[in-house]
Amino acid sequence: MEKNLNFIDHEYIYSLMNNSKNITESEIDNILDKAASKKGLSHSEVAALFQIKNENQRKKLFEIAHMLKESIYGNRIVVFAPLYVSNFCVNNCTYCGYKRENEFERKKLTREEIQTEVKLLEKMGHKRLALEAGEDPINCNIDYILEAIDAIYSTKFENGAIRRINVNIAATTVENYKKLKNAQIGTYILFQETYHKPTYESVHPKCLKGSYEYHLNAFNRAMDGGIDDVGAGVLFGLADPIFEVIALMMHNEYLEKTHGVGFHTISVPRLKKAEGMCLEKFPHLVDDEMFKNIVAIIRLAVPFTGIILSTRETPELRKEVIKYGVSQISAGSSADVGGYSEREKGHHIPNQFELADHRTPLEILKSLLDEEYVPSYCTACYRMGRTGDRFMELAKSGNIQNVCGPNALMTLMEYAMDYGDKDLLEKVEKVVAREIPKIKREDIRELTKNNILKIKNGQRDLFI
Ligand code: SAM
Repeated sequence: MEKNLNFIDHEYIYSLMNNSKNITESEIDNILDKAASKKGLSHSEVAALFQIKNENQRKKLFEIAHMLKESIYGNRIVVFAPLYVSNFCVNNCTYCGYKRENEFERKKLTREEIQTEVKLLEKMGHKRLALEAGEDPINCNIDYILEAIDAIYSTKFENGAIRRINVNIAATTVENYKKLKNAQIGTYILFQETYHKPTYESVHPKCLKGSYEYHLNAFNRAMDGGIDDVGAGVLFGLADPIFEVIALMMHNEYLEKTHGVGFHTISVPRLKKAEGMCLEKFPHLVDDEMFKNIVAIIRLAVPFTGIILSTRETPELRKEVIKYGVSQISAGSSADVGGYSEREKGHHIPNQFELADHRTPLEILKSLLDEEYVPSYCTACYRMGRTGDRFMELAKSGNIQNVCGPNALMTLMEYAMDYGDKDLLEKVEKVVAREIPKIKREDIRELTKNNILKIKNGQRDLFI
């Protein structure tokens, strides 16, 4: 039996949302000042910040979000790409292009096709993937997913290798989560889609995915199965975003209480046009201004949790919201099965939903470097056992900087050597010259310098 099946108290959230309407500007100022000291936000404070009307206060919200991101994560941005392996799906989610009532030829990749996709991803410089699949216990069972993981980890093209696979597959059993853990996945990602139960049930009609409670308790099962890095998310656009953000915080606290650690990351996907759905039918679509508030308020509420931003958003919007607390972005993505191979052949790619940032990783890296970020392909944490509460302790003490800073630089140099052009190399050299002196401990600085020299000489044995 599941314990505590529905720990998202809807009446409590409604009352917080109602009470927040009377918040004064001076109370908002106090909340912002508290958030600046990395203390996080209470549920009522989250609700209150969504009531900001004063433009100066909104500016202050964004500045604090930016400051928190810089002081905890530094200027690093982790880069990854999704890999869709199967679009078989037994569900009928009203918002999704993969819903079973959409008639198209379903496919799942063979081992060879997975290897072809992985080689193309490695050619783009990727080291970290998010494995994606529709839900189909027959056509895409756990054994298929495990084989896919094995195919990905064992595919090496030139200097390329996938060093971390995060997995975004449907909610499953403790036994299956144990298998995923043994297959050495990074983070297990699952979006609740919406925490609002009536909405959840109406957008998942006659679906295996239709049980709100089973879905909501998936992370308990994942953690019982030994996975300690879980990545949450809400599909913004289904229900009231203020309700969703408060509920996300409640879910995070629930996991902290029951399993000792909350979300490793939070994703902020926004509803996009997809085959067989009409955006106009969704009454809670989130506009750009609300989207910026969501990212910034999440950053203030849980300063130590990563925030993931996908290519659903335009380059312009990505450039802006990255400042408000994003720590990971996808790049060069295809959101369809076999999409990278199709793109290589110059074919049109029909995605699970519409994407808005079509730049290559190289272009994205250049623009990040111009904005003075350090794009990172580091995947060392989970391979060195820095997961779950061990990661959080390092993040909260600030010591994570000592590890992430040098690793980000090393993997950036590695990328530049293997996949960069002259322009990128010049940008990277400037960044390395700027960043090395910032690395605090002398021994780590030396290690970084030595590692970079090794990479330059084509040696990689110091890589972790
Ligand atoms: N089948 C798995 C599950 O049920 O969780 C994996 C989900 S799917 C491959 C990845 C995510 O795409 C979904 O969780 C959903 O949030 C998102 N998605 C589906 N339709 C979308 C749309 N129209 N716009 C934006 N994101 C969408």
